[in-house]
Amino acid sequence: MRLAHIGIAVKSLEVSTPVFEKIFSIVASELEHVAEQKVNVRKIHLENCDIELLEGTAEDSPISKFIEKRGEGIHHISFGVKGIQESLDRVKRGGIELINETPRTGADDMLVAFLHPRSTNGVLIEYTEAKG
Ligand code: ZN
Repeated sequence: MRLAHIGIAVKSLEVSTPVFEKIFSIVASELEHVAEQKVNVRKIHLENCDIELLEGTAEDSPISKFIEKRGEGIHHISFGVKGIQESLDRVKRGGIELINETPRTGADDMLVAFLHPRSTNGVLIEYTEAKG
């Protein structure tokens, strides 16, 4: 398992992207709209992992709701796994609550699934795997 990316919830990609481009001295990826998650995403590709800037596109977007409750900041930490369904089944058997019992499609057309922060000390953890 490896660290894939850190998801950061922002109110406005227009405002926040230049901030992170300055911090990492790198140009962010083009904006991607992920309809299923109701978010716009821009990524900063670092050597070991990515920073994923997330902006909600609707009031009922998970990112909009997160910002309303907790403000901007780190939203989730994503780990690349081999065999995402098997990984989900394994942690579930171990008593970890899942948000997604089966993977969904996230940014970059990757399979993604979230573990519930209720059972992970308040940390929203995402598993991710390339399709196919
Ligand atoms: Zn993510």
